Amino acid sequence: MAELRREPVARRWVVILAAETKGPKDYLVFKKPYREIEPIEPCPFCPGNETLTPEQILAIEEGGEGKWTVRVVPNKFPFFRIEGELDRRPEGMYDLMNAIGAHEIVIETPDHGGAWGRMGPDQIQRVLKAYRERSSDLARDRRFRQILILKNHPGVFYLHPHSHVLAMPVIPGRIDEEVWGALDYSGRKERCIFCDIIKEEITSGKRVILETPHFLSFCPFASRYPFETWIIPRRHSPDFVSIGDEEMWDLASLMETVFDRLLRLLKDPPYSFAIHSSPVQEKYHRSEYHWHMEIRPRIGLGEGFEWATGFFVNPTPPEVAASHLREVDCT
Ligand SMILES: [Zn+2]
Ligand SMILES: [Zn+2]
Ligand SMILES: [Zn+2]
Repeated sequence: MAELRREPVARRWVVILAAETKGPKDYLVFKKPYREIEPIEPCPFCPGNETLTPEQILAIEEGGEGKWTVRVVPNKFPFFRIEGELDRRPEGMYDLMNAIGAHEIVIETPDHGGAWGRMGPDQIQRVLKAYRERSSDLARDRRFRQILILKNHPGVFYLHPHSHVLAMPVIPGRIDEEVWGALDYSGRKERCIFCDIIKEEITSGKRVILETPHFLSFCPFASRYPFETWIIPRRHSPDFVSIGDEEMWDLASLMETVFDRLLRLLKDPPYSFAIHSSPVQEKYHRSEYHWHMEIRPRIGLGEGFEWATGFFVNPTPPEVAASHLREVDCT
């Protein structure tokens, strides 16, 4: 069982994988460039290898029974486990609890070599449908306070395109900061800070990549990373799960274009992607929050400075990043 331990000074929760301890040897593999890490063979996410994954939670099928286009399965190596009690407890002066939650894998396509930006908006829409269905299902479990969708491209162990749906018993620090920032702003101005950002960005236009009927993609004013990109719904909405079908199609098309451009411009960069939604359960849910996607190409300089200070150094101003992303030649 993994543990959630609270760092007592900065009050951040840390997941400690106490049961699957790794020693020094395990880290040597990560010293290689990511493309040289040996993938797990045979690939458990490829069609025909369904028995190599834990029992399927959801499948989106097209063209007959068993012909899945998206599958959702429990993660074999979860950070959070579904069974058990939280057992919040002290250890001396410290706080810890069991890492109860859910950790599911969304297998985004049967195509081992697929990628966002190349798989087409229809397929991205199916992935978004799986996110919506799993998020709303997990949010019903009273033990959970936050649902998070996360993707690392390429994956560390599996190259087959996949993403993670996590349900957590605590609100992660990054989302907590955003929630409190949004509450503070709306307390003073009676407006949503994210809605104001959308208006500001559209008016100035300098950091806009693309606008669609329902969404805006832009490089944020204080981008922490080179080519950091956000996608945000124009309609005020705290939760990704409230997205309608028409909005979802618009979003899938926009994502396909944005990732196509990032792939071309930065030559298939490694990246991380997250969907930030309001915490769940009435007590923690914040109608002032405004859900969004954050995309961070992992191409930055060393991160020692950020680690030491908590602030970031970005050598590519967002105005420059956005102008490059607007002008990518997609012919
Ligand atoms: Zn595969
Ligand atoms: Zn808003
Ligand atoms: Zn965010």
